[in-house]
Amino acid sequence: MTGPTDERTAPATALETLHRVFGYDSFRGDQAEIIQQVIVGGDALVLMPTGGGKSLCYQIPALVRAGTGVVISPLIALMQDQVDALSAVGVRAAFLNSTQDGAERMRVEAAYIAGELDLLYLAPERLRMSSTADLLDRGSIALFAIDEAHCVSQWGHDFRPDYLQLSMLHERWPEVPRIALTATATEVTHKEITRRLDLGGARHFVSSFDRPNIQYRIESKNQPMQQLLTLIRSEHAGDAGIVYCLSRASVEKTAEFLVDQGITALPYHAGLDASVRQRNQSRFLREDGVVMVATIAFGMGIDKPDVRFVAHLDLPKSVEGYYQETGRAGRDGLPSTAWLAYGLQDVVQQRRMIDQSEGDRAHRMRLSQHLDAMLALCETLQCRRVQLLAYFGETSTACGNCDTCLNPPEGWDGTVPAQKLLSTVVRLQRERNQRFGAQHLIDILLGKRNPRIEAQGHDAISTFGIGGELGEQEWRGVVRQLLAQGLLGVHSDGYGTLILTDASAGVLDGSRRVELRREPERAARRAKKSTVAASLPGEAVPLFEKLREWRAGVAREQAVPAYIIFGDATLRGIALSKPDSLTELAGVSGVGEKKLELYGEQLLEVVAAGY
Ligand code: ADP
Ligand code: ZN
Repeated sequence: MTGPTDERTAPATALETLHRVFGYDSFRGDQAEIIQQVIVGGDALVLMPTGGGKSLCYQIPALVRAGTGVVISPLIALMQDQVDALSAVGVRAAFLNSTQDGAERMRVEAAYIAGELDLLYLAPERLRMSSTADLLDRGSIALFAIDEAHCVSQWGHDFRPDYLQLSMLHERWPEVPRIALTATATEVTHKEITRRLDLGGARHFVSSFDRPNIQYRIESKNQPMQQLLTLIRSEHAGDAGIVYCLSRASVEKTAEFLVDQGITALPYHAGLDASVRQRNQSRFLREDGVVMVATIAFGMGIDKPDVRFVAHLDLPKSVEGYYQETGRAGRDGLPSTAWLAYGLQDVVQQRRMIDQSEGDRAHRMRLSQHLDAMLALCETLQCRRVQLLAYFGETSTACGNCDTCLNPPEGWDGTVPAQKLLSTVVRLQRERNQRFGAQHLIDILLGKRNPRIEAQGHDAISTFGIGGELGEQEWRGVVRQLLAQGLLGVHSDGYGTLILTDASAGVLDGSRRVELRREPERAARRAKKSTVAASLPGEAVPLFEKLREWRAGVAREQAVPAYIIFGDATLRGIALSKPDSLTELAGVSGVGEKKLELYGEQLLEVVAAGY
């Protein structure tokens, strides 16, 4: 039972814990209310974007309430780091999963039973074993935290069958409060989590999904590797980043290219040996400034707070996937970039993949809808963020921190070029019963007499050479946008040949106007630098760099990721305030009791050296 006394004292205890253990001044967003709800024994469902600060929402109640907070997490590979991060601030944490040997497991179990753990991380599959439930009964449970709660949704892309049985927690331990957390949830996923985890009676906390520190940019793909290199060199030299590619082959090729250019890049995809994957992931987490080139197999639950950019070299399959992947940038709230290069081939390829995908018509329809929403985001003339947030049911106003806000693209009337292109498709189809891909159609419009055109006699078609008003690159933009708008289709022959759609007729007969987007000039659209160092006043940069060096040394000695020692945000705070006493240092956000004791003197020395 919770009495009024608890309700009055709990927030103070929570705030004191936040300050003493984690070194932060105040709660963010809904944190205080969520923590209060769980401390007094209530259930909570928390929808908060990546970097919003979900971990504290269960860690603080676990510290304040009697007993051990039990955290269900699918991310076995990351449990060690989570436990290390907690140990670094003096919290007693441990995990149980399949990577441990018997002796280690027994040690953790004994600590749990003896009440010596504040937090215990469990893989969901362990709850299938009755021995796990028996073990939990022998200790005292402060709360259950269900992390990555969207894994219970069959609709989403991270479905884990083991999550379905998590409703048993509530049946077996009805008096223990539960808090479920996720960073991905459209309306549909939200409902499914509520139903499957039986959280109808819980308080739901839905934060804005906006990530204001992330600058969203989408540009058309010409020479993707060079474009990527420019991004890294001009804005993110020395920064940690993730580059997503669709195929294993392009992961390998891109990683090699970056390495040849002197960038520390590592590949990650499901075809690599598990030990190589593990080693690369661990280097990415531990070392400063590593670029991970990966398929989407990489990244779920990666807690690294200082990923400064996420680049996509291929079009993501859905807005949800794109948002989740880009969301791995800038968890620490500092300026970061989400950059996507996308082109005609992406659209053709994805439409083809949907056509050839397994599953029924309804399934293909769903894939198509996901792709259409993604394409609409790419081709929008509006603020990217407004469109992204609208997808998640939020209304907002132009953000000023995306490419379309910084460099507004122009709309233009593309009806006539669209008619020229579509009538070329019609002529080939009707007069000759032929279909061709984009390049050939463009060659016809531009009047190129290449061997293929001559062999086919396509220089005799009435649209031959009538497209001189646009260059080849612009024509590719027209084709891409017609595909994106569904005014042109891809045949299911597997060769990417183009055909008319039902909607094409309106364009051809002049009853439908085609609005297209003109890319802003490349030179003009260079966005401002967004690195952490660039966000500091010039005189603070050398000290910030020195602090990073110091941190790298300590992290190496202890074999833990650098961010476990201190996050960039904390180093930035130190570089700005240049503290000259332990008391002043304790006032910097992110410096708690334990870290002050461990590193305080060393940090003051670095500051005193006067960079
Ligand atoms: P999420 O799990 O929602 O992605 P985290 O729990 O990893 O986010 O928190 C993201 C970052 O923000 C971490 O570096 C964390 O220490 C920091 N953080 C969380 N809450 C606060 C707060 N109240 N004040 C300052 N920093 C915070
Ligand atoms: Zn914007």
